[in-house]
Amino acid sequence: MDDTIIAVSSPSGNSLKGIIRLSGSRAFSLVQRAINKRILWENIWRSLDVTLNINQSKIPATLFLMPAPRSYTREDVVEIHVPGSRILLEILVEYFTRKGARLARPGEFTQRAFLNGRLNLTQAKAVLDIIHASSEQEHRLAVNQLNQYAFRHIKEINQHLLELACQIELTLDFSDQGVEIIPPQQIKTSLKRIIADINKILQESSGRSAGADGISLVLCGRPNTGKSSLFNCLVKDRRNIVSPVPGTTHDYIEGTFSYRNTEFRIFDTAGIDRPTAETPLPMRQADIYLLVIDSSIGVTKQDQATLKRLNPSKTILVANKTDLFPKNSTFHIPHSAFYKCSARTGSGIIALKDSLVKKIKAAPPERASSRTLINLRRQETLVSCLKSLNQALTGVNNLTSYEFVALDLKDALERLNMALGDFAAGKHLAADDILNNIFSGFCIGK
Ligand code: GDP
Repeated sequence: MDDTIIAVSSPSGNSLKGIIRLSGSRAFSLVQRAINKRILWENIWRSLDVTLNINQSKIPATLFLMPAPRSYTREDVVEIHVPGSRILLEILVEYFTRKGARLARPGEFTQRAFLNGRLNLTQAKAVLDIIHASSEQEHRLAVNQLNQYAFRHIKEINQHLLELACQIELTLDFSDQGVEIIPPQQIKTSLKRIIADINKILQESSGRSAGADGISLVLCGRPNTGKSSLFNCLVKDRRNIVSPVPGTTHDYIEGTFSYRNTEFRIFDTAGIDRPTAETPLPMRQADIYLLVIDSSIGVTKQDQATLKRLNPSKTILVANKTDLFPKNSTFHIPHSAFYKCSARTGSGIIALKDSLVKKIKAAPPERASSRTLINLRRQETLVSCLKSLNQALTGVNNLTSYEFVALDLKDALERLNMALGDFAAGKHLAADDILNNIFSGFCIGK
């Protein structure tokens, strides 16, 4: 309850208006940080138009300030109304979570309203029912995109953790009745295994999530046009070269770079000039293709053939090696849409990067839309679960009383249940689960 929570509270998908809601003691101060102008936080409801400075962008917004206790949650609440773009909302949520807000769990605003006495249980349940119904579409999406593997494994881990927690509770509750005490070593082994399993899922799902993946770029073009040189120019830091992947039909090398808060993942192919059926998957499904030509040669028939095969809305044309021309000569690349650059001198590279960002902003890749938030939430939940588990492990290592270990495990279990609730079809945590600690009915009749 001490946290300041945040969530998108407008319907999913792109709509005219997007709403973000913050609730908690830091709601006002967090929003103030994003605004240059000093705001008077008066003790009344009011709205005002502001410009948010987020990641060097200026975003016009209307704020609705609802100071405690006269808000839905009875806490300080700020609603931020912005133009309704999914990406924009994600950027805002990402910004505020980075500054210290926590992603709200399903129904958490209502839970707070209930806990702070604004709603009674029946009212809270009614609201939650509506929330669940309206988030159904988003939920279906989540389920569709659900990594079945991760879901199954979280369930398994959940089961292991539940067993472990149960054993510890048993020890605690019945130690005076001769129930055998579970040795610390055994707890440690189980905990370590669970921690390793969660880490594995986190690694795997971050590799798959659109947010973590970034925008994928594939370099296409004839040999010697300078694709590798461009790759090196964009992925300046060698540490960002992810992997050359041998053993596929065509080898490729993958690297990452970021520009203007956008993460890019770039693939350079060895010896292919355009993606075909045999091309490794990441390259067939790129968000953007960079077709590179050698401007000292001009556009060849082969370049034209490649161009025909590429989706025009996803393709950026790049004329490399402009340094081979004397400055004043007329550039003889016919196509005015070419971005002219030189991987050797670096000229034109910034303009090229700008064009990438512009293209992504103009037409965000579909998969980046409704997925990122869900993934962000799921990952955040698992990370906080890990925190509790590590705390439990430290406790066992330091021979802390099992009571504290049990508390950490309860916390971890609650997080895992949230992750599952985020995932599973029809398995959003039920209102009662949210309102009550999942443990209340758990320990053998106690
Ligand atoms: P790739 O086969 O398309 O990957 O091309 P490379 O990056 O291997 O480059 C082929 C040749 O062109 C190499 O000798 C590079 O040094 C040279 N090259 C690449 N970019 C430029 C450029 O912008 N200007 C000049 N003058 N040479 C370049």
